[in-house]
Amino acid sequence: MNSSKIFKKSKRVFSTPPKKITILGSTGSIGQSTLEIVRQFPKKFQIYALSCNNSTELLANQIKEFNPKVACVGSKKQALYLQNSFPKTKLVWGMDSLSEISCDKEVDMLVAGIVGAAGLKPTYSAILEGKNIVFANKEPLVMAGELFVKTAKKTGAKLLPADSEHNAIFQSIHEEPSERISKLFLTASGGPFRDKPLDKFDQITIDETLNHPTWKMGKKISVDSATMMNKGLEIIEARWLFDTPVEKIEVIMQRESFVHSIVEFVDGSFLAHMGPPDMKIPISYCLAWPERLRINRSRMNPLNLKKIHFEPINQKRFPCLNLSLNVAKKGGSFPAVLNGANEEVVSAFLKEKIKFLDIFKTLSFVIEKLENVFKTIKKEKIPLYLFEILTLEDAIQADQWGRKQAIKFIEQLT
Ligand code: MG
Repeated sequence: MNSSKIFKKSKRVFSTPPKKITILGSTGSIGQSTLEIVRQFPKKFQIYALSCNNSTELLANQIKEFNPKVACVGSKKQALYLQNSFPKTKLVWGMDSLSEISCDKEVDMLVAGIVGAAGLKPTYSAILEGKNIVFANKEPLVMAGELFVKTAKKTGAKLLPADSEHNAIFQSIHEEPSERISKLFLTASGGPFRDKPLDKFDQITIDETLNHPTWKMGKKISVDSATMMNKGLEIIEARWLFDTPVEKIEVIMQRESFVHSIVEFVDGSFLAHMGPPDMKIPISYCLAWPERLRINRSRMNPLNLKKIHFEPINQKRFPCLNLSLNVAKKGGSFPAVLNGANEEVVSAFLKEKIKFLDIFKTLSFVIEKLENVFKTIKKEKIPLYLFEILTLEDAIQADQWGRKQAIKFIEQLT
């Protein structure tokens, strides 16, 4: 037998079946980037399930192309409409179905590209089943990070961070234990208002807010980037993902979005992760982990990088960052309350119910209100979920509490 035959034979024996993937939020920007990679590597990845809330037409195109076993939509009406066109794909709807497609025994990997607290239950159900999870949905980790990380340790679920900063840290830390980390530097582009005169902030429009200088993203995260609440949520996300106290996490501005984050180790070594601002890079790293894929991607030539700027964050310009840093230090229910309130204010801002500056006003009111609960109400009368997030239900209730306070405050404003 010649060597080429032996090679062919061994290749057949050792070829691994494609990883079966569920994508939560397949029509959003993370979902679409994931599908671009799946499209390029059909032998490595296969779509088990797709889901979206409202973009039914785009989902229909994705079902046609990727032929998933299941597809989940927001309502029964949408499901019935799509079922007629796609008899081979099982159409389901609602939150329970979202959890089912996330933890089904056929699924190897869950891509959590859904926006906001809606990802809490489905991602947790996947963690309980020990799945590998590509985390682009930071809100569940903010709401219940400790619970998620502890449960993942028990079940063997691997939390793979696709958020560009956390992916950068994940790649830089590699397998070093957390006691060797001296500091984590999360980089921030500064968003669309990094140079806007402060006296013009009261005139900020929705279009300006959504116009991010370096990244193309969904609406919610674009607003969060403009207020820098996104970086605040990322501090909490990093705290849990890398088992690092908040005091060791610092945010610095990096205008060009080429350095995605930096890890300082105890021996004084700094490992920074660089690359073009292209979400396909961190997503592909997570999908292929522990391998790397030769993906179609944006290119970066270091010779074109004349300067890389690092700057401190202007706290006056971005008061939401300090607010969330304090919330991260307080822990308990504070992060979940802040997250719930933030989802409500972002939604109100996008509906033109409130102005840009009202975002911080509302959030600081809600956090002050929670602080006052502990100062003024007898301990035994305070609901347990406001002390500590021990269960998924605690996280949901704390989130709801934050939303309710935010809605009340917004009603007064309008
Ligand atoms: Mg990020």
